[in-house]
Amino acid sequence: MYQAKAYSAAGPAADLAATAIQRRHPTDQDVQIDILFCGVCHSDLHQVRNEWSEVMPTVYPCVPGHEIVGRVAKVGAGVKKFKVGDLAAVGCMVDSDGTCPHCHDGLEQFCPHLTLTYNFPDKHTGGVTYGGYSESIVVDQRFVLRVPENLNPAGAAPLLCAGITSYSPLRHWNVGKGSKVGVVGLGGLGHMGVKFAHALGAHVVVFTTSPGKKDDARRLGADEVVISRNADEMAAHASSFDFILDAVSADHDINSYLHLLRRDGNLTLVGAPQKPLAVSAFGLIMGRRSLSGSAIGGIAETQEMLDFCGKHNITSDVEVIPIQKINEAYRRLLISDVKYRFSIDMASLKS
Ligand code: NAP
Ligand code: ZN
Repeated sequence: MYQAKAYSAAGPAADLAATAIQRRHPTDQDVQIDILFCGVCHSDLHQVRNEWSEVMPTVYPCVPGHEIVGRVAKVGAGVKKFKVGDLAAVGCMVDSDGTCPHCHDGLEQFCPHLTLTYNFPDKHTGGVTYGGYSESIVVDQRFVLRVPENLNPAGAAPLLCAGITSYSPLRHWNVGKGSKVGVVGLGGLGHMGVKFAHALGAHVVVFTTSPGKKDDARRLGADEVVISRNADEMAAHASSFDFILDAVSADHDINSYLHLLRRDGNLTLVGAPQKPLAVSAFGLIMGRRSLSGSAIGGIAETQEMLDFCGKHNITSDVEVIPIQKINEAYRRLLISDVKYRFSIDMASLKS
């Protein structure tokens, strides 16, 4: 084991603070990565504050962070895919059984023996996994991704969660030329959803509660912007969407969006608010509409997404912060004040 600098939360009401954690030395199949940037996902905040206590109770101290980009520092003897100096990335997962039907289908995120990047039992240390708010991380090569060298690493980090979580459902629901796509909530996930839906050739409509984000939404690739608190603007889009991606982090009315789907249209929830959402049966029955969810994406699809980003030069719009500003960043996330992802410069951990 070796010691690594990190930031952790000691409890649901505590600010994050500097700490030191134990990491394993790389074994045969492991890659050790010196972390350059780590994105700040709203899930980090939900988890740190134990808002998902019923499904994923938080174990403290908690070191969040699952949007990790860095340089390979060491590799185990069995690692052929990566060499020292490569630009590499780690997302939300660090292990799975590799044998279940989900793993066979490349959908490791649904493996019953999945290990998430933080707050999950760690078979190597006997404790829990610690995430990317840290100077380095050691991960099995199966869960390490390649980052195209043309991508800026600060903007590439959020692709590992915000990117794949919005890319995967767009692909699953066959969004492309001729599709009318709505994106609800212009935050980290939402702004990536806009970029991807636009790059796939769809007609993109952003739904936002923040009038100040209108110009940005268009710059990011939206064809239209709707202020969701305006009933007339909403009504103008009734029964017209093929697909809507809901990336809202807090309680909100999803029925008003179900009514905007055309016959057989789908609304996929990727946002994971603390409280259950109410669903009106008629919003679904009329028009045979469907409501589904989606969780990140498998490893192969994550690599596909990164390569797509390399080809189309897509990264996240980031506000780079030093780790010392993480608590302020969390407070700003809660008031939808992020354009459009915080990316932590891990060099700040050394100061
Ligand atoms: P974020 O950057 O904070 O963005 C959330 C956006 O939701 C805000 O920018 C805001 O957009 C909108 N919003 C916030 N409060 C709202 C309210 N009360 N009513 C209506 N709209 C509101 O968060 P994120 O990192 O993108 O994450 C979004 C959600 O996805 C979180 O719940 C997160 O845990 C979840 N998530 C899920 C997965 C998955 O695999 N399914 C992966 C990652 C994250 P406007 O200002 O435009 O209204
Ligand atoms: Zn995330």
